[in-house]
Amino acid sequence: MSLESIKGLGPKTKMLLNNMDIKTTDDLIHYYPYRYNEIKRSEVSTLKAGDLIIMDGIIQNDATLFHFGHHQDRMTFTLVADRLFKVVIYNRGFLKKQLVATTKVTVMGKYDPLKGTITASNLRLGLLPPQVVIEPVYHLVKGLSSKQLQSFIKSSLTSTNEVNDYVPINYQTRYHFLDKLTSLKQVHDPTNLTLLASARQRLIYEELFIFMLRMEDLKAKSKQRVGLERAVTYDQVLSFLKTLPFTLTKDQLVAINDIYHDLTSTIRMNRLLQGDVGSGKTIVAFVALYINYLAHYQGALMAPTEILAKQHYDNMLSLFKGTKLKVALLTGSLKPKERASLLAKIKQGDYDVIIGTHALISEDVIYHNLGLVITDEQHRFGVNQRTNLMNKGYLADTLYLSATPIPRTYALTLYGDMDISSIHSMPKGHKNLVTTLVTNDQIKTVLEVMLAELKKGHQCYAVVPLIVSEDNALDVESLAADMKKAFGKYYKVGILHGAMKSSDKEQVMASFKANEIQILVTTTVIEVGVDVANATVMAIFDCDRFGLSTIHQLRGRIARNDVANYCFLITDNVKERFQILTETMDGFKISEMDFKLRGAGDLFGYRQSGDMVLALADLRRDYSLLLQARDDAKAYFKSATYEQDELLKTKIGLVSKAS
Ligand code: ADP
Ligand code: MG
Repeated sequence: MSLESIKGLGPKTKMLLNNMDIKTTDDLIHYYPYRYNEIKRSEVSTLKAGDLIIMDGIIQNDATLFHFGHHQDRMTFTLVADRLFKVVIYNRGFLKKQLVATTKVTVMGKYDPLKGTITASNLRLGLLPPQVVIEPVYHLVKGLSSKQLQSFIKSSLTSTNEVNDYVPINYQTRYHFLDKLTSLKQVHDPTNLTLLASARQRLIYEELFIFMLRMEDLKAKSKQRVGLERAVTYDQVLSFLKTLPFTLTKDQLVAINDIYHDLTSTIRMNRLLQGDVGSGKTIVAFVALYINYLAHYQGALMAPTEILAKQHYDNMLSLFKGTKLKVALLTGSLKPKERASLLAKIKQGDYDVIIGTHALISEDVIYHNLGLVITDEQHRFGVNQRTNLMNKGYLADTLYLSATPIPRTYALTLYGDMDISSIHSMPKGHKNLVTTLVTNDQIKTVLEVMLAELKKGHQCYAVVPLIVSEDNALDVESLAADMKKAFGKYYKVGILHGAMKSSDKEQVMASFKANEIQILVTTTVIEVGVDVANATVMAIFDCDRFGLSTIHQLRGRIARNDVANYCFLITDNVKERFQILTETMDGFKISEMDFKLRGAGDLFGYRQSGDMVLALADLRRDYSLLLQARDDAKAYFKSATYEQDELLKTKIGLVSKAS
């Protein structure tokens, strides 16, 4: 159903939701909370300074209100519970009329046991209910409150009495699952922890079951295909490698050898090439395209952004200028005339390699004889997009590049349908990057280094975890304001985050690349593919909100030059886990540690957003459930019931209908 069918949901909210990838009521009910708050009266005697306190009681005297600064205010009152608390709350002056003597209220905030004060961040009228309330917490965007989101979800859930349940009946019975609708209701509005846990378990199982069924389907389909046997000798490859301006690393050579073997045998290549940012995957991909070209096939390389596509294009032109290989660049920003003429040439086979964005998979692009399809940063593309491109060449071999190194055990499950080549070593070793842990009171050192680098003409990244913050934590806007205060007089500060329109994002990136912006305040959106060699500082604020792998990916954006580079990890909750980041640059080691510490959630963040398949499941935490789901999916895939299961087949077919 469309979002408009929900009462009280206007066009503005609809746009906000669309930006969050919520387009239908079905998307809405699958937009899960990322955690829960247990709302119950705190046991005051156990609280330490700064702990969260939840307390209800009666207001003793009418609240006092002070105004200060620009539109700022501060209100205080005494709360009578089984003891007295002095409550302070900022910028809620508009509530003053309601906060009069004898009013019953509940406050939440930070507790200071020495002074007996509560600095409230949240205030509600009325006392706490007798039973514990479990409140879902959602990722939000500016302009959309948690209350609104909850009420939209609630009304979608009450107006639906049927949701698609993908778990086959026999497994539902075997595991005594709650039904799907009940589970969804529990997840968004839990009755108690026990029911919430069973609801989650059921939804997680469903996600994993669908995921593994897809894997079975992909595996079966790729087995049916025979590959192109290309008549290319390894000597031809070697003589090209000799022309490169650098010597390849051992891992690069092994990967090239794997690919050469796939491309020249009857095996149809379906390979994942994984390695850290900067490990040199691009040249391996280029060699694959070259082998394909030598056998007179066309090849395509799809990048997630225009900037990245252009980068690959320029790079390929320069590395292959000694050969006859012809490269074209196809992106969405071509003028209609240019596009038409380019398409005609592609169709005629005038180009050997076509590099582009998802413009490569538009309906009107017809290839000459597509033999090889490569997608860069594969986790950024949904499975659908990948499959579409694959379908453009009937026998096309495929190679996926991924900058998220994954430990072997997980790779085998997640990419069970693919062969894997891994590049462990970095060609340049990143010896010029120093990573330092700092607390907020040492921020001055960070700013000094930034200033010194800016003065040298270099650029800086400042990263925060949040686009908008509900509780005064640092977010993009506030960090940008701080940066402007510190450097705005002489340097330009830019903002880049995931909720921006993609054309705006590309424009900011282009300005940063052109050094029109010197300090880029951003979120994790910059992880992928950005290459600005002039950037030498990466300051990551509140880094304890990120997983190790994410931080590692982020810092891969700098040290793309031969000067000294600095990565600062800023947090007051210094944890031992960050130590490894100051010691090693090996992404596989770091991801192994990340798995041990926090599970796969972090690593597969992208895969989730790209494919929307794993919204609740965490591959490490739920690993045994994953293995169970895998066995069930394997059995079910072969069963006669699956043959008849139109619902599930459609769901799976969405992904791999014609692959
Ligand atoms: P990624 O794996 O992130 O795609 P790239 O392929 O972009 O990494 O490589 C990063 C940089 O390292 C590029 O400038 C590339 O030309 C360079 N490079 C790649 N392989 C080598 C090598 N063996 N020796 C030196 N430099 C290399
Ligand atoms: Mg790359």
